[in-house]
Amino acid sequence: MPAMTATMNLPREAGRSGVGPSAAGNRLLASLPESDLQHLAALFDTVTVEVGEVLYEPGQPIAHIYFPDDCLISLLAVAEGRMTLEVGSVGREGVMGASVALGHELAQVRAVVQRSGSASRISRDDFCAEFAQLDSLQRLLYRYTDTLLAQAIQIAVCSRFHVLEARLARSLLITRDRLQSEKFHLTHEFLAHTLGVRRVGVTKAASALQQQKLITYSRGNIEILDSAGLEAVSCRCYELVKDAGTAGMANVFI
Ligand SMILES: [Zn+2]
Repeated sequence: MPAMTATMNLPREAGRSGVGPSAAGNRLLASLPESDLQHLAALFDTVTVEVGEVLYEPGQPIAHIYFPDDCLISLLAVAEGRMTLEVGSVGREGVMGASVALGHELAQVRAVVQRSGSASRISRDDFCAEFAQLDSLQRLLYRYTDTLLAQAIQIAVCSRFHVLEARLARSLLITRDRLQSEKFHLTHEFLAHTLGVRRVGVTKAASALQQQKLITYSRGNIEILDSAGLEAVSCRCYELVKDAGTAGMANVFI
């Protein structure tokens, strides 16, 4: 499998946000008390990120922490510099890079933008200083980190024990939930990188789902036609990942 382009493109500045993160954007931030959110707002920039941009590389210092508004970011574990497996995804329900507050100065995963959009961004130093002071931020991030860990554990089990067709269905359903849309764009190559398989495997599994009239898939454009049917084909990991999110953070995960 060819290595995913790992150029470190810096997100475009969308201008420093005058009002800071909005309640219509990142749900994690929106769940903070209003006074804490207003206090944090001045420290955030709003940036635009594009599909395929690499925001973190394993072993590289984390300079910024991202709270996605409408973008989606895939977290990929990397083996031998070229093989990858998605161990989590972060959308408007989450945050990426918060592990700096736990003392991890270097990224542990490759973070690649799966869908373009905007994110609220804060520098590592500002984030760590605020994390040390704000109880609400600490409580929120401990709970969120726990859901990310649960997700990574489930995906590890899924990758070893479940067939590709079920794993693809699980991945599409999680993407659907994160984006709150039945239609989205994911290339075969991207799916191969997230599922840790060759492109031909993705083609075969996607064709099987298409033949069952659960999805349509053409040139990377995916539409889920039958959600219930896709859930029936998916392994139980979809439900378990979903339950871990909603149990820990019902007002944030949807
Ligand atoms: Zn599974």
